[in-house]
Amino acid sequence: MALLGLGRESRAARSAIMTVMADPAPPEMRGWGLVGSAELDRVVVVSPHPDDAVLGCSHLMGAHPGVTVITVYAGRPQEYPSPMERWDALCGFVAGDEVHATRRAEDISALSVLGAYPIWLDFVEHAYLPRSEWVGANDIVDTLTKTISDLKATAVFAPFGLANPDHDFTHEAALMARDRVDPNTAWFLYEDMGYKHIPGLLAWRITQLFRKGVWPTPAAVPVDIDYARKQQAVDCYQSQMRALEAEWGIREKLSAPAPEQYWRISPPPPGWEGLSNPSNDQRQGDA
Ligand SMILES: [Zn+2]
Repeated sequence: MALLGLGRESRAARSAIMTVMADPAPPEMRGWGLVGSAELDRVVVVSPHPDDAVLGCSHLMGAHPGVTVITVYAGRPQEYPSPMERWDALCGFVAGDEVHATRRAEDISALSVLGAYPIWLDFVEHAYLPRSEWVGANDIVDTLTKTISDLKATAVFAPFGLANPDHDFTHEAALMARDRVDPNTAWFLYEDMGYKHIPGLLAWRITQLFRKGVWPTPAAVPVDIDYARKQQAVDCYQSQMRALEAEWGIREKLSAPAPEQYWRISPPPPGWEGLSNPSNDQRQGDA
C-alpha cells in the first residue's frame, strides 16, 4: 500500500492523510480523474502566444474537433523595434518583416491540422514593451472573460503559466476569469511546453495553487495520441521552431516525448482542506 511508503513524512502529515483515507471509500472515488463527455462539448484553450496551445494540447485538440484557441498576446506592437527584438531575430525575421502576419498565418495552418480555430486578442507581448507598460492579468481579464463567455465554453484549458511573464499573466487572468464565467465550466491547466522542464518550476506552481485551495489533479481527458499529427502542426510554426530549437532544444523534448498532461483545478473534497495547510507539511527529523 503506497501510504506505508511515506517514511519521511511528518507524523502530522501522515496522520492527516490517514484520517481522510481511513474512512470508508467515498462513493465518488471511482469517478476521480474522469471527465464527463458533456464537459468537453465546447472546449476552449487559452494560449499566451501563437504556438503554446499546439505545443501543450495537440492531443486534446486532435480528439475534439472544433476547439477554439484564444491567443492572448497576438497583438502587433505599434512599431517593430530596430534592431529586431531578440526572439524575433532568433526566429529569422529581419527588419521590415510583418512578424505578426507571419505568426498568425502559421497559427491558422497549425490549428487547421488539428481541426481547431483561432481567436487572437490584441494584447502586445512583454518583449516589445518597457517593463512599466507590460500588459498584466488585470489588463487582460475583462476581454478574456467576455471571450470565454461568448463562446459558451464548457471546458477551459489554461496554461500553468511558467517563467515567461506573458504565460504568468495569462495564467493569473484565467484564474480570475474562472471566478466570473458560468460556474458550471470545467477548468483545466496544461503544462507550458519548454518551460515545464525548468527545474522545480511546475512543482512550485502546483504547490502555490495547492496552498490556495485550488487543487490541480491530473485528469484522464480523452485524447488522440497521434505524434505525427502533432509534429505536423508544430512544424507549421516555422519561425518559432527556429528559436525554440536554438534556446530550448525543443525537438528532442517533443520527440521523447514528454507527455501532454491536463490537470483539473477544483476545490478539495469536503474535509480535505487541511492538507493545504503548511503545518501538515513534512518536517525533517519529525518522523
Ligand atoms: Zn509562449
